[in-house]
Amino acid sequence: MAIRTVDEYKESLRDGRHVYIMGEKVEDVTAHPVLGPTCDTVGGAYELCASKDPTVRDLYVAPHPVTGEPISRFYITPHTKEDLANRSKMIRRSIEILGDLPFGRDIGTDCLNAAFVVAGKMGKKEYQDNAANFLEYLRTNDLFTCGAVTDVKGDRSKEPANQKHPDYYVHVVDKNKEGIIVKGAKAHITSGPIVNEIVVIPTRQMRENESEYAVSFAIPANTKGVTFICRGGRGAWTEHDFHPDNPIKTLTEAIIIFDNVFVPWERVFMCGEWQHSMLLAYTFATFHRFTAISYKIPLVETAAGCAVAMAKYNGLEKVGHIRNKLADIAAYVETLRALTNAAAFDPVMYGDIAVPNPLIANMAKLHFASKYHSFIELIQDIGGGIIGTAPDKKDWDHPDLHDYLEHYLGGSAKFSTEERMKMIHETMRQTCSHESAFHEVITVHAEGSMEAQKMMILAESPLSRYEEMARRKAGIIPWQGIDGK
Ligand SMILES: Cc1cc2nc3c(=O)[nH]c(=O)nc-3n(C[C@H](O)[C@H](O)[C@H](O)COP(=O)(O)OP(=O)(O)OC[C@H]3O[C@@H](n4cnc5c(N)ncnc54)[C@H](O)[C@@H]3O)c2cc1C
Repeated sequence: MAIRTVDEYKESLRDGRHVYIMGEKVEDVTAHPVLGPTCDTVGGAYELCASKDPTVRDLYVAPHPVTGEPISRFYITPHTKEDLANRSKMIRRSIEILGDLPFGRDIGTDCLNAAFVVAGKMGKKEYQDNAANFLEYLRTNDLFTCGAVTDVKGDRSKEPANQKHPDYYVHVVDKNKEGIIVKGAKAHITSGPIVNEIVVIPTRQMRENESEYAVSFAIPANTKGVTFICRGGRGAWTEHDFHPDNPIKTLTEAIIIFDNVFVPWERVFMCGEWQHSMLLAYTFATFHRFTAISYKIPLVETAAGCAVAMAKYNGLEKVGHIRNKLADIAAYVETLRALTNAAAFDPVMYGDIAVPNPLIANMAKLHFASKYHSFIELIQDIGGGIIGTAPDKKDWDHPDLHDYLEHYLGGSAKFSTEERMKMIHETMRQTCSHESAFHEVITVHAEGSMEAQKMMILAESPLSRYEEMARRKAGIIPWQGIDGK
């Protein structure tokens, strides 16, 4: 089986996994009112692979590099800038076609691609084979993965070995001939409870006295000792929502507890090689920020579209200060797009693996995160107070109220009041809701904090070249004229 159906995916989740949400144990994640819609959202990835439109199907399905069998293109390890560009395009198109990102392969392969780079650098054939065999297993069974990187971390000012207890970072507690035993917890893991396999890598550089924390592996989601504690979510649309006809798109995150979990050696990609933990965390961060900037583009395009549309519904599209704000909105979106494309087309090669340009990927993520709240402010400004106070769909449908709302909540005569109400509600979701506040937090933290991006920008930027140019200009070191004259 190379490409699964949505039903096969859902059936595979009924495997006895330990999932909790809002204080309740979940027997079947696919049928749960909050987690069910996340399974449908993530399952959309399988629908893309089954599309009758060849331009869609051929983007998501690629021939296996050896057998030629159809497999998910996410399981093609990037070797060229075209592979990276395709990866970015797959991520963007998912949101354009489905309405949200079906996060079932992206973060796991960010981890796995980094594990490949590091296994190559370590020169450890067993890890290279383990990663290659695991990839082959994913390809053959068309499985979904999550990437479990962020540890719970305890006191942030202390290293893993100096914490109040040893379990704030996932670590190896025992080893035997068959495998290793791990303990700890990873936090905020997107799609964790609704994927098949968990890929684990360290969240940071580990030192010599922390070698037990330098651990990377992959295990099935129903492994004994693994428990998921999910965040609450909104579930399906309600009768209070003005909403599109298609179902809600939503994701879930969870804390994953690893309570003395056994991992067989053939699923281990790092165990104790603390010297290489930095490269693993760093390379993952680069791949993952590239994933991030790719999926952010359609998200900010949609939010920007609310500003364009609300300006029209309010009859203000030709007003000077509104056009000025739309120019700022467009510049924000297009800078993100330009940097994302540049990160794909100027990769760094590790052996035969193409890693997105780390400097540009981090600049793009920092641009996105550091300016997002100002971008949202512009949309809120254009939308007007109604995006905070609009009556809900049940008011609109109420026989005593409908005519009042129809009469008083119109805008530009070019559009119906109902159309304006729909756009008001979409703008509310994007900029003035529980979901939009959640997005503001994701922007700051997901895919690493802004300080993490600045650290990588400093590490990758040619600061000494800048300095040399200034010192030449200042006459501190000799000017290099033509032919040294
Ligand atoms: C919606 C969402 C989805 C996510 N999905 C995933 C996922 O799928 N997989 C995954 O692995 N992770 C995921 N993450 C986690 C994300 O990568 C982290 O939130 C991010 O790395 C920040 O870590 P933290 O949340 O522990 O924040 P903290 O580390 O608590 O950071 C808070 C602040 O403290 C600062 N800080 C932290 N430590 C130090 C220090 N030692 N010195 C100085 N300053 C410090 C940070 O820069 C930041 O300003 C997700 C997060 C969110 C919000």
